[in-house]
Amino acid sequence: MLDETLSREILAAVDEGFGGQLAFTQNLVRFPSLRGQEHTAQDFLFEEMRARDLTMDRWAIEVGDIEHHPGFSPVKVDYSNAINVVGTHRPGEEQGRSLILNGHVDVVPTGPLDMWSKPPFDPHVEGDWLYGRGSGDMKAGIAANIFALDALKRLGFHPAARVHLQSVTEEECTGNGALSCLVRGYRADAAIIPEPMDGKLVRANVGVLWFRVHVRGVPVHVLEAGSGANAIEAAFPLISALHELEERWNGEKSAQKYFENLEHPINLNVGKIAGGDWASSVPAWCSFDCRISIYPGWNPAERAAEIESCLRAAAQNHPFLANNPPEVEWNGFFAEGYVLEEGSDAERLLERTHLASHGHNLESMVTPAYLDGRVFVLYDNCPCLVYGPYSEGIHGFDERVSLSSIKRVTGAIALFIAEWCGLERISDG
Ligand SMILES: [Zn+2]
Repeated sequence: MLDETLSREILAAVDEGFGGQLAFTQNLVRFPSLRGQEHTAQDFLFEEMRARDLTMDRWAIEVGDIEHHPGFSPVKVDYSNAINVVGTHRPGEEQGRSLILNGHVDVVPTGPLDMWSKPPFDPHVEGDWLYGRGSGDMKAGIAANIFALDALKRLGFHPAARVHLQSVTEEECTGNGALSCLVRGYRADAAIIPEPMDGKLVRANVGVLWFRVHVRGVPVHVLEAGSGANAIEAAFPLISALHELEERWNGEKSAQKYFENLEHPINLNVGKIAGGDWASSVPAWCSFDCRISIYPGWNPAERAAEIESCLRAAAQNHPFLANNPPEVEWNGFFAEGYVLEEGSDAERLLERTHLASHGHNLESMVTPAYLDGRVFVLYDNCPCLVYGPYSEGIHGFDERVSLSSIKRVTGAIALFIAEWCGLERISDG
């Protein structure tokens, strides 16, 4: 175990570097790293990591490299700008345990700009808060990973084990970015992902499925052009049927360890809809995009089949849909959930370093949203600690993250690195 003096010095070094860390985080928020536009933020991170003498690796995700993998999600967009960046530290002599510090650089769409108090990619500080799209989810976390290492360096230390700093894309839509790192060969004895988790540790996390439902076809008879013979209106009973399925799945929560006490663990979101051509024609087409979650242990392919049969059944007795059955396209997340087994060495250590940095005990939580932690836990049996700062409004308007929380989390990560990896003195030569 670290002695108390060194522990205090590490936390003080994090404190000392925090002005720079905040400025770095703001710079990172300025890059509008929406889907397909992550590459400029990745260039910035590449240069920052290289300046820290890390061995650099940067690549665009190749679908052919990962599509065989059970954790793969279908790809419907061009990946030429889906760039992953990994910076690796290798010690003079491997002494401790290896570690991956992961974060995703992609951010979700802003929604209407006039619903933000200030522009989403112009980060500003007010009191204890840093505002901006991606500030909490999760650019503060990426910066925390980097500045935890910087704090050790300021004291004259490197980790005495291999450390990979990963900045990945595609976390908000497929999880293929983290998967691509694993398939490329990046593995370690533990991983940390500082997602905005209110300073808690994620114990369990749902899987997520994305799909688009296409309703197509010419109405059978113009006299039926009212309700039910119209592709847009025909979408309504399909959406209702999906909500019934959602409630059936929520009804199964008592059998799901860690989810039994959540009020509504399974959420269906109809996130986007389009259809028709103009007001005076009966619409012959409508498409809507959905996201639904599944419990850990549930197989995505089996649940996808259940969704398709639910939609088929709903179509059977409908005047329009019976003749024009809807088609389902799987166009994103096709991901399992996971449970972090209790009591790993990594978790025990985080409990100690969290306590040292926060002054209170680490709590765990269950999340009803997707996390890349599943890639490490399910496909590499690697204890992945998803643990990060307090944040509000992620995926909403006026997203913000607490500065004091970032600082404490960075301290806990720095202490974790020091003890998990061990420390070696940086030599002058
Ligand atoms: Zn996130």
